[in-house]
Amino acid sequence: MSRTAIITGSSRGIGAQIALRLAQDGFNIALNDLNETMFENNDIAAQCRACKVEAEIFCADVSKYEACEELVKAVKERFGTIDVLVNNAGITRDGLTARMTEEQYDLVISVNQKSVFNLMKLAGNVMMRQKYGKIINVASVAGLYGNPGQINYAASKAAVIAMTKTVAKELGSRNINVNAIAPGFIETPMTDKLTPEQKAKMLEVIAMRRYGKVSEISGAVSFLASEDSSYITGQTLEISGGLAM
Ligand code: NAD
Repeated sequence: MSRTAIITGSSRGIGAQIALRLAQDGFNIALNDLNETMFENNDIAAQCRACKVEAEIFCADVSKYEACEELVKAVKERFGTIDVLVNNAGITRDGLTARMTEEQYDLVISVNQKSVFNLMKLAGNVMMRQKYGKIINVASVAGLYGNPGQINYAASKAAVIAMTKTVAKELGSRNINVNAIAPGFIETPMTDKLTPEQKAKMLEVIAMRRYGKVSEISGAVSFLASEDSSYITGQTLEISGGLAM
């Protein structure tokens, strides 16, 4: 039987590319995003199916625990197993700490951090019964080094790194690998929002003097979802073109 991967927030950007790469690797794909309209202007499900695997869209707001319960149940019913979980859904609501609202803070924490708890718990329970699983959490360099204007985002991503280590320790004996990646500046709709000045400033501190491509993230996720990484757990792989060393 083919293995199954859930990728949250996979209608576009990094998540869509991860879904396509895992489809190329032979996984059946459970796509997820907030609603159907997110998938209207792309053919990501069709692109996955073209890799001769099954692909289905499961809409859910992963910041909500109950929605995640339904998501995990539906994916398990449809595909039989949940072998890979990629917690990719994420948002930004930037602002300097002095001006950030409570709503901005709480929303980013609930989407970027709580969702990772929800699904590591719920899909993790399925994986424990299977005695097999790979969990890959998408953190950020902001969670490693901090970033002005992103107290909410940096906090959420630092938490994801700590949660990765915690659950790696809890689930290691069950043959479940739990790792994180920390992308730097990757060209996606999320980073399109930055001003030209902000983008130029970032380039100065990147050793490779260029931004990353989504395919440079999905390759690392493919490795962490594969048997080649079977003795790697609790780690955070920075993919940033040498942002900080
Ligand atoms: P993106 O905005 O293009 O994609 C994120 C997707 O997540 C969107 O499709 C969005 O609708 C979805 N999403 C948001 N809230 C959701 C929710 N509650 N439930 C389900 N889906 C939801 O962003 P991206 O750049 O592709 O980012 C993907 C991940 O990579 C995020 O976790 C982000 O923090 C992280 N990241 C991105 C960069 C970068 O430079 N682009 C750098 C570091 C980390």
